[in-house]
Amino acid sequence: MMPSSSRADDVVEKISGEGYHYHLIKNFKYPKGIRIAVNFTFDFDSMLKLRLSNEPIMELTEGEFGGRVGIWNALDLFDRQNIKFTLFTPGRICELYPDAVREAQKRGHEIANHTWEHRVPKEPELERDHLRKATDALEKLCGKKPVGTRSNHKISSLNAEGYLYDSQRFKDSDEIPYYVLQDGGQSCILNLPFHLVTDDAMYFRFGWQGATNAGNRLADPEHVYQILTSAFRQYYKMGKYFNVCCHPYISGRSMRIAVLERLIVDMKKMPGVWFCTCEELARYCLENFPAPTK
Ligand SMILES: [Zn+2]
Repeated sequence: MMPSSSRADDVVEKISGEGYHYHLIKNFKYPKGIRIAVNFTFDFDSMLKLRLSNEPIMELTEGEFGGRVGIWNALDLFDRQNIKFTLFTPGRICELYPDAVREAQKRGHEIANHTWEHRVPKEPELERDHLRKATDALEKLCGKKPVGTRSNHKISSLNAEGYLYDSQRFKDSDEIPYYVLQDGGQSCILNLPFHLVTDDAMYFRFGWQGATNAGNRLADPEHVYQILTSAFRQYYKMGKYFNVCCHPYISGRSMRIAVLERLIVDMKKMPGVWFCTCEELARYCLENFPAPTK
């Protein structure tokens, strides 16, 4: 399914300064009958990120919408379509919107880690402390320890806490799952990558990442539907992996929920589409394409 002979095996990351090495999975194959895995992921950062970047009050209320309305709209959509998603949740969200997180878990969705308060401290002690605090908060609220993260925590810290996978855009090395190594290969984690093309913030977030108004206009949902559809079709054709990154405060708006629903309905018409949680895909990869040995 996947041509691998022409791909580099280990790519050394020099840009980030984090000392990452990548180990791509050769001869990656899905289970029999599957052509593509689809992970819908929601980053439940709500207003935490907006607050850390000192956004004005009107922007903060957008974040509130995510915790009070958007997440519930998303839950209803995925109930209607009978698909499970992965909810990347900062530890502090367990204090702010415990009912929503508990309800997501009750409806069968995966609850995964998205840092403590939407940042990873540089100080090593504090960095580990934040990871432990967030892990504990999710475990306490849901009764299950998270096995996945979307964060920039050190891989050694993630290994120490028993995390199985990361799902990051920034360590963007392939369009199927791959391994990321750090500390000269002493620490290693599976990455389930996504791309800006499948990140809702790129289309619907006004003034995203400090962009000027002229540089970041709200996109027409119809246009976004077209982009996502053509991206999915191409990934499907190539037998790759489709990870859609959404945010309850962004995609939880009704007109954007409609885009997701149309996309899902289209996908369901294609044979061999595996709608799974990140945990399900990660366990499949770890079992069938184990991490490189040190
Ligand atoms: Zn986030």
